[in-house]
Amino acid sequence: MTPDIHIIGGGLAGSEAAWQLARRGLRVRLSEMRGTGERSPAHQGDGLAELVCSNSFRSDDDEKNAVGLLHHEMRGCDSLIMAAAAVAQVPAGSALAVDRDVFSAEVEARLSALPNLQIVRERIDTLPAAGLTVVATGPLTAEALAHSIGAATGADSLAFFDAIAPIVYHDSIDMDVCWMASRWDKGETKDYINCPMNRDQYLAFHTGLIEGEKTAFKEWEANTPYFDGCMPIEVMAERGVDTLRFGPMKPVGLDDPRTGRWPHAVVQLRQDNKLGTLWNMVGFQTKLKHAEQVRLFRTIPGLENAEFARLGGLHRNTFLNSPVLLDRQLRLKTAPHVRFAGQITGCEGYVESAAVGLLAGLMTAAEATGREWQAPPRTSALGALLAHITGDAEADSYQPMNVNFGLFPPLHDVKKKQRKEAYTDRAKTDIAPWLAEVRA
Ligand SMILES: Cc1cc2nc3c(=O)[nH]c(=O)nc-3n(C[C@H](O)[C@H](O)[C@H](O)COP(=O)(O)OP(=O)(O)OC[C@H]3O[C@@H](n4cnc5c(N)ncnc54)[C@H](O)[C@@H]3O)c2cc1C
Repeated sequence: MTPDIHIIGGGLAGSEAAWQLARRGLRVRLSEMRGTGERSPAHQGDGLAELVCSNSFRSDDDEKNAVGLLHHEMRGCDSLIMAAAAVAQVPAGSALAVDRDVFSAEVEARLSALPNLQIVRERIDTLPAAGLTVVATGPLTAEALAHSIGAATGADSLAFFDAIAPIVYHDSIDMDVCWMASRWDKGETKDYINCPMNRDQYLAFHTGLIEGEKTAFKEWEANTPYFDGCMPIEVMAERGVDTLRFGPMKPVGLDDPRTGRWPHAVVQLRQDNKLGTLWNMVGFQTKLKHAEQVRLFRTIPGLENAEFARLGGLHRNTFLNSPVLLDRQLRLKTAPHVRFAGQITGCEGYVESAAVGLLAGLMTAAEATGREWQAPPRTSALGALLAHITGDAEADSYQPMNVNFGLFPPLHDVKKKQRKEAYTDRAKTDIAPWLAEVRA
């Protein structure tokens, strides 16, 4: 069989993309390196769509939760991953959790039943020079292909580790305490939100960083080369009580308008998306446990009620600087026959990876059959995630991101307590015609 489309990687994204394409009658070759004796450091078996860690697809609440909404929209697109999850579901309250073996077997069985889909156990080492291709090789893309992608995109555009600083929803920051300014008032605009700390607050915070419980590196992550450029804040704190005040918490050049003086230390937040709804804690990449981050970061003046769209972390993770490299259809701008899907695009999580695989499948199907691609509405979970990856995120601070309501066009007029339902109501209304088209 001569394939119309070559998909590389049979994880969550590649399997979903293959399903969407083959079900539309296209001939697909799905290349998966596991099954040849090759394994990523995290995968344990050879089954397609293996869940490498938890067995949860997170909240299934489509009325108040962004990932639950994404489930809903994916089901509306006849998602393979959602259908297999339904078969493999195990009790987990309002979360959607699965028996991972049943889940993977179900994905593989459904794909294997498609006559125009060929599953080939092979490792691909170079980006194909021609032909419609979807690369879905995930956060642990095999080395030779990663180098080929690096060569095609530029060394600085493919990261091998994420160094995630927490992201805060703008409307949860107390702007009576914080103020907008750039250091030394440089530039026309006041670009940073500044949270001032006095000496006692800083010392308590410093102790909290040192004593806070941290997540250990996995064995295969231990010798990470990022420490030079992206040191976790707790490691900086261990180097001396004032190290942070000369690093990310430097107060110089930042006059607090309430005192007219520089505070003892400052935490700065920088805008993280074009909508201005998400703000990144500058230089705050950390291995502190998530609960510890929430507790400690809420001691920062102005962040007492902070809601976090993302918490900090450091992991091995291969991902592209997608907002710069990919067009709005997930195609590599310099080689548009190649599309990327899944976590390698800089989305984060099983569900998001599958969702971007689903979108890549639909886009490639449209391209292969000469139809015009219509993106899902920007107000939907699929649309918000896609827009973030393909241009709306700030490219300078681009790091993997889960779906969250901060990616949606804001609804300032709706009371805060009712906003989650308002986001999901709007999304469901707006995406209904698009879903009908997809299923037609
Ligand atoms: C250690 C770890 C733990 C994680 N835990 C969670 C979690 O608990 N919950 C969560 O929601 N997300 C988690 N993630 C994040 C992410 O959601 C998953 O990694 C998810 O599986 C990504 O989906 P994907 O399809 O993009 O990649 P994958 O599911 O990893 O699929 C990529 C596939 O490509 C194959 N492949 C790689 N290179 C080649 C090549 N050159 N040729 C052919 N095949 C190749 C791989 O064998 C793999 O099957 C975790 C990530 C890691 C690394």
